[in-house]
Amino acid sequence: MKKVAIFGSTGSIGTQALSVIASNPRRVKAAVLTCKSRVDMLRNQIRRFRPEAVVVDRKEDAAELRREYRDLKVFYGADGLEEAAGAMDYDIFLNALVGIAGLRPTMAAIKRGAVTIALANKETLVTGGRLVMREAAASGVPVVPVDSEHSAVFQCLAGNQENSIRRILLTASGGPFRGYDRSRLESVTLGDALIHPTWKMGRKITVDSATLINKGFEVIEAKWLFDVDASCIEVAIHPQSIVHSLVEFEDGALLAQLGVSDMKAPISYAFSWPERWATDSRTLDLIGTRSLYFEEPAGEARRSLDMAYRVLREIQESEGDSSAVVLNGADEALVELFLAGKIPFVAILDTLEDLLDKHTPRGIESIEDIMDIDLEARTTVRERWGQHKI
Ligand code: NAD
Ligand code: MG
Repeated sequence: MKKVAIFGSTGSIGTQALSVIASNPRRVKAAVLTCKSRVDMLRNQIRRFRPEAVVVDRKEDAAELRREYRDLKVFYGADGLEEAAGAMDYDIFLNALVGIAGLRPTMAAIKRGAVTIALANKETLVTGGRLVMREAAASGVPVVPVDSEHSAVFQCLAGNQENSIRRILLTASGGPFRGYDRSRLESVTLGDALIHPTWKMGRKITVDSATLINKGFEVIEAKWLFDVDASCIEVAIHPQSIVHSLVEFEDGALLAQLGVSDMKAPISYAFSWPERWATDSRTLDLIGTRSLYFEEPAGEARRSLDMAYRVLREIQESEGDSSAVVLNGADEALVELFLAGKIPFVAILDTLEDLLDKHTPRGIESIEDIMDIDLEARTTVRERWGQHKI
């Protein structure tokens, strides 16, 4: 029986992970659950899955939960996430938190050792890729991706050598605004941005998918996960979201992983790896699909990718990892403002480009460096847009 810590158990990935656990009661058990604000939902999860520990955001909620559940260990706040990750007993650490909040807990879990990191939280690698992968290698801790594209690449690589990769081809649905030009994007609303054509996800990643910065983050994530040069990572727009990604090897063989759009599949694979478990996932109707469609990202779709490749150039040429932290932190702050109705959709990429232009890349020595740069980027965004009303 594997014990799983689910950080972010009330979110889109977290709740789907719990349904994978519910379908495999003899194989996996929830050991730690965490939430930020949906404490009542967490209460239901405690009753159903009986974890040994939970983490909530507020001290008052932690005190109440301690009174309600005498045997439960209860932590709170950002420090509580780190403490629980470092102290509790589990075999798999599923990071389903959103944003840079996932970075410190991942590091704590890696340092605890004897664990598999199942990583949905891409911001961990976007901001701390070098430090996290170095620590994981030093501790012998495997990092198994949950992001569907990276899970696909990871599955294509099984049984092959990483040093025989010629090219990684990440697929992208293109989001709800595929083919829109600038003038059409200027009038899109929050409601438009929150409807994703193929995946149902949390709000932040849904907006990131609409700007396509999500795909930019995934390019950076792939660089760290698979230790490849940015020139080996390409993106293809594939609106059907059937081919989850592909790897081309040195001998020209192109392997792809296909399936229906269901995040329970990569979550289940991260739990079962290196095995595979039976799931109730729908079978892909390949004949009914008739044809698979791919196109080159062009026009507005290139802007986010261009930023990611620019950041990767800085990382590769001068270890200027700070640019990725700026990109991530500024995006988190901008998406927050967009979700609050305070800035227009186009302000997100415009501001990110401007901030990258003004930033002088520098190296990163520690997690504290990352948190400082992140705060600086968020502050700049808030100062610029804080008083703005659309
Ligand atoms: P979500 O917003 O639905 O859930 C986030 C979870 O994290 C919730 O449980 C929330 O309570 C918790 N949380 C949020 N901010 C927190 C904070 N500051 N401190 C502590 N807890 C906090 O997000 P999601 O869509 O499940 O995405 C989770 C991660 O997985 C993201 O990094 C996302 O990019 C990645 N991802 C998601 C999907 C998907 O289908 N949802 C697919 C690929 C990758
Ligand atoms: Mg993805």
